[in-house]
Amino acid sequence: MTLSLFDLHCDTALEMFEKKQPFAKNNLHVSLENTAKFEQYVQIMAFFTSPELDDETGWNRFLQLRQNLISDPCVQSGSATLATTCPPRKAGVSLFFGIEDARIFAGKAERVEEARQLGVRILTPLWAGATCIGGSHDTNAGLTDFGKQALQKALALGMILDISHASVPSADEIFELSAAQNRPVIASHSNAADICPVSRNLSRRQIQKILSSGGVIGLNLYTNFLKKDGKAHISDLLPHIEYFLEQGAERALCLGGDWDGATLPPEIQTVGDLDSLADLLLSRNYSETFIRNLFFENAYSFAKKHLV
Ligand SMILES: [Zn+2]
Repeated sequence: MTLSLFDLHCDTALEMFEKKQPFAKNNLHVSLENTAKFEQYVQIMAFFTSPELDDETGWNRFLQLRQNLISDPCVQSGSATLATTCPPRKAGVSLFFGIEDARIFAGKAERVEEARQLGVRILTPLWAGATCIGGSHDTNAGLTDFGKQALQKALALGMILDISHASVPSADEIFELSAAQNRPVIASHSNAADICPVSRNLSRRQIQKILSSGGVIGLNLYTNFLKKDGKAHISDLLPHIEYFLEQGAERALCLGGDWDGATLPPEIQTVGDLDSLADLLLSRNYSETFIRNLFFENAYSFAKKHLV
């Protein structure tokens, strides 16, 4: 079965920059070569800046990562196109921009607008620790006043907020801020905490809030978020999928592989190996429609409605 893929999260832009790798063909998880088997490929490219950089240097690094990506021969030649709105069907390879860890706004609200002008449409405000934005998953802190102001502005500019990496109080405030502007909330790369209890995964309550907001959830392939103990395999994604289906997430469930930011199960070396997940699902009697929805259609419908 020929599939399209719309993946909600990768850190490939940072790896391309740090390892001086082009998009066309590289030894990373995501490349033009590895996406060739998909009929259409849409990727949310998160710009994640190294945590050792201070906020201000992090902002400059974001600008460098973006410049490096848009200067790549694949983007320059049009073999990968940059997207700020939902691309048409059969558009080939399209890349949306995101920012992961918005501490790089460094207390400067005008940077939200600047980020939007630079093409950023998805904002993952937190990553780790307590920042100028607020508390991440490893803290109990909520959003700061600056964080609330920055995220309200991001919403008003049409950006989508992502609770992956947020603390419980920060996520609750992101739900409130988004609801106030009638916008959905996503979790771009998180699994079910009832299946694998780590702070990066989603509680039942958070899943329900995402669903009622009209948001989507990207399944993360990071082995530590698949299974708590022992070595995780791709089959360890199945209990998460079953759980999300029990929660009513059939039309909200997507993939958010955390490519180039995660340790992957042994069956998956690159994004091009995801057909092994499709084969696994077929062997467990999931329908082709379910697989197409998971790989592409659910995210595509979301983008069509909310990335306009
Ligand atoms: Zn992440």
